[in-house]
Amino acid sequence: MSAQQRIYRFGTDDHGRDVTEGSSSMNYILGGKGANLAEMARIGLPVPPGFTITCQTCVEYSTAGNTWPEGALDEIAEAEADLERRMGKRLGDPADPLLVSVRSGAPFSMPGMMDTVLNLGLNDASVQGLIAQTENPRFAWDSYRRFIQMFSDVVLGVDAELFENAITQKKLIAGVRSDAELSAEDLEELVAEFKQIFSEHVDATDHPELLVDGEIVFPADPALQLRLAIQAVFGSWMNERAILYRKQNGIPDDLGTAVNVQVMVFGNKGATSATGVAFTRNPANGAREFYGDFLVNAQGEDVVAGIRNTEPISDLKTVEGLEKAGAELERVFTVLENHYRDMCDIEFTIEQGRLWMLQTRVGKRTATAALKIAIDMVDEGLITREEAVGRVDPAQLDQLLHPQFDASVELDILARGLNASPGAAVGEIVFSSDDAVARAAEGHPVVLVRWETNPDDLKGMVAAEGILTSHGGKTSHAAVIARGMGTPCVCGVEAFQIDAAKKEVRVSGTEIVLHEGDIISIDGATGIVVAGAVPLVSAELTGDLETILAWADEIRLSEDGGRPCHVRVNADNPADAKLALDFGAEAIGLCRTEHMFLGDRKNIIQTYILSDDDAERAEALQELLRVQTEDFVQMLKTMSGRPMVIRLIDPPLHEFLDDPRALEISIAKRESDGADEAELAALRDRLRRIDAMSESNPMLGLRGVRLSVVYPDLPLMQVRAITTATAQLIKDGYDPRPEIMVPLVAITEEHVQTREVIEQVIAEVERDRGVKLDIPVGTMLELPRACLVADDIARHADFFCFGTNDLTQTAFGFSRDDAEAKFIPIYLHRKILKGNPFETIDDAVLELVRMAVEKGRDANPTMHFGVCGEHGGDPKSIVKFFNVAGVDYVSCSPYRVPVARLAAAQAKLKRA
Ligand code: ADP
Ligand code: MG
Ligand code: MG
Repeated sequence: MSAQQRIYRFGTDDHGRDVTEGSSSMNYILGGKGANLAEMARIGLPVPPGFTITCQTCVEYSTAGNTWPEGALDEIAEAEADLERRMGKRLGDPADPLLVSVRSGAPFSMPGMMDTVLNLGLNDASVQGLIAQTENPRFAWDSYRRFIQMFSDVVLGVDAELFENAITQKKLIAGVRSDAELSAEDLEELVAEFKQIFSEHVDATDHPELLVDGEIVFPADPALQLRLAIQAVFGSWMNERAILYRKQNGIPDDLGTAVNVQVMVFGNKGATSATGVAFTRNPANGAREFYGDFLVNAQGEDVVAGIRNTEPISDLKTVEGLEKAGAELERVFTVLENHYRDMCDIEFTIEQGRLWMLQTRVGKRTATAALKIAIDMVDEGLITREEAVGRVDPAQLDQLLHPQFDASVELDILARGLNASPGAAVGEIVFSSDDAVARAAEGHPVVLVRWETNPDDLKGMVAAEGILTSHGGKTSHAAVIARGMGTPCVCGVEAFQIDAAKKEVRVSGTEIVLHEGDIISIDGATGIVVAGAVPLVSAELTGDLETILAWADEIRLSEDGGRPCHVRVNADNPADAKLALDFGAEAIGLCRTEHMFLGDRKNIIQTYILSDDDAERAEALQELLRVQTEDFVQMLKTMSGRPMVIRLIDPPLHEFLDDPRALEISIAKRESDGADEAELAALRDRLRRIDAMSESNPMLGLRGVRLSVVYPDLPLMQVRAITTATAQLIKDGYDPRPEIMVPLVAITEEHVQTREVIEQVIAEVERDRGVKLDIPVGTMLELPRACLVADDIARHADFFCFGTNDLTQTAFGFSRDDAEAKFIPIYLHRKILKGNPFETIDDAVLELVRMAVEKGRDANPTMHFGVCGEHGGDPKSIVKFFNVAGVDYVSCSPYRVPVARLAAAQAKLKRA
């Protein structure tokens, strides 16, 4: 193990020569902070010298149950001695002591999650050396008391408040108001009191190394201070908040943190010293201006802590004694931007007029800023268009495509849930789908608040501005449907105790009770819920977003670098189709025809399914033909000149029928109301029929192509509607391009026989209307068996589109709703699964897709291949579909189209 280098130096030696060993590409070894300190030193920026202990050392230390790997402590002691030589100073020296900071730094930034100790090396002797060197006793004692405070808190977990209380006491006694007014004597007394607090609050059994004559004593030995501080930083990798943060941000637990031991520089040495944080551009809106704050005569976290009012970085150059350092900082900004070719975020300290760089990294930014900065940098010649497109995070784009809370308003957060579907909404609370529809019809915006939603809630979900559920996760019914519709949704708001019957919500942990009609605001991008109306700002596809997406299109549609990456949309009404075209969709990848049977058409389809009067059924079917033809005319007209994949009816028929349990209840009610026998008999007959349709496992039951085999009338009616609409539009001078898709095929023969009758209907309509129609017929691949025989099916199909939701269900044998409600969370927690396979495509399911594409393409080279499951809108999955499986397009809901365009371009770039 110890063959690996454990320690990397950065900064200069005693001759001012750079001895840096690391670089910015080494963040898995040196952590982000260490790698970038090395990089800055390497390019000649002023970095206080030091060394970095690797992340791997931390991993070894933690996996061995917090014990040091052999030889590591010796190596650290040697590195420390080396640093002392480089500086010509020694830790703990009573004449001229070296002081260091001990800083954590993981491969990914985890702001505020882990620990840092400053001013290490001070003790009763070395503080005298510091006084002698600086001739500033106040500064020396202040540094010492800060060190004891930080060390006690970070390394030994002593309650920070104890120290703050002591300071408050001291200020009262001294009759001063601010810390800065405490005298050197006051601070010296505080040091003694702090050491006392330390002795009283550290447990001797845990820390025998701190015992002196049977008493706990603050460690005076700098070597011991250093070892304990490093151990604390290593330990902070596994503290609860760090673990939680990693879980939320998808950072693996096994990376470890590096430790940087670095010579202290002091921003608190008087009026020509300062400390600050800054960005090389404005991270909120992307403007090309220096952005940040500084404090004169301050140290470390004072700027961020907000104890004193900071000054804007642009004023730094105007402060007397800081002019030169301020100008130097501006030069460093430019050097960093040119070097990293991106916006950087930095921490600096000025010690008596001299600038020192303490940290840099590529800075986080809002979506708006990300776009502006990327485009500006192309204009400035700093990066290429490809780099600009590669840099914008597709997931972040979502923020821009929906209305958002006005960022300038301070929020009074009522509760939090999961950020299930982005966008913000404000409306009156309603507790049922019917109330949502009724209230919205009166012109009131509503937020539908439910325990969880189900398919019966669809009307209400459509009517609502936003949806909130107290249960269910990011892939619950509410979340999936809301994302599909582009409706903001916050799920799993556990604090909401909903009583739908009483039409009220109690908010646990508060006295608050909300009633129907009360206004709430939800933000589906953050999961925040606020009582009352938060002002919203709306979003549109203009300006910078349009520019980046135009560049993305150029990249993904180009014939260079392999197969182009197309983006289609899942849409089943003209409004969605129109929206998707505005968002840049090239075609419709999935039109779900059964969505056209909802609303007032539910009655017609129910009559068709349940009636045993043949004439009545025929009439219902005729009526369905009429309305569907009209639907397809509208849709195909909107999409004129562009392909539109239409899937034949897919769900089990009972989904169109009443819930038998509800019907049973209403029969019982009618009975007790004394309804007449004839009515009751009719209702009971209806119930019997509905019951007869029920299946014990409908997901694996009579649905998809199986319906075409058993009840061919319904799908063939749809084919007739599609074909008739097409014929009519051609006559009217449009260019309709429907593609008929047969769902849930497992066996080649299912497809062959279904296609035969489809072709017959098409031929009939051609004859009747006297037009020539060219309508491709393809297969929806969503069962593992179909993927295995894809070559065989391909000989009879014009295209394949992968329904990856069902493919995931059937490959895993998971029923999605049950899996997500009952055990996927546990699987994730236990790391049986690395991610939810319904969110990002699982690699084994992806392999089924890849194999089927390969087989299909071999058997039928003119075929095209797409993905229309929800994964088609997930950036990570999109890259895999294009680059691993080799599909031609992904299809997603309208609001995901811009995200998919960007992700598709990034897929293409990654191939290079
Ligand atoms: P975080 O990761 O929480 O930002 P840092 O390791 O960056 O923690 O330390 C926090 C702050 O402490 C820095 O921003 C800087 O102001 C101060 N600091 C750290 N090391 C030194 C040093 N060697 N000299 C002066 N100040 C330091
Ligand atoms: Mg911090
Ligand atoms: Mg920092």
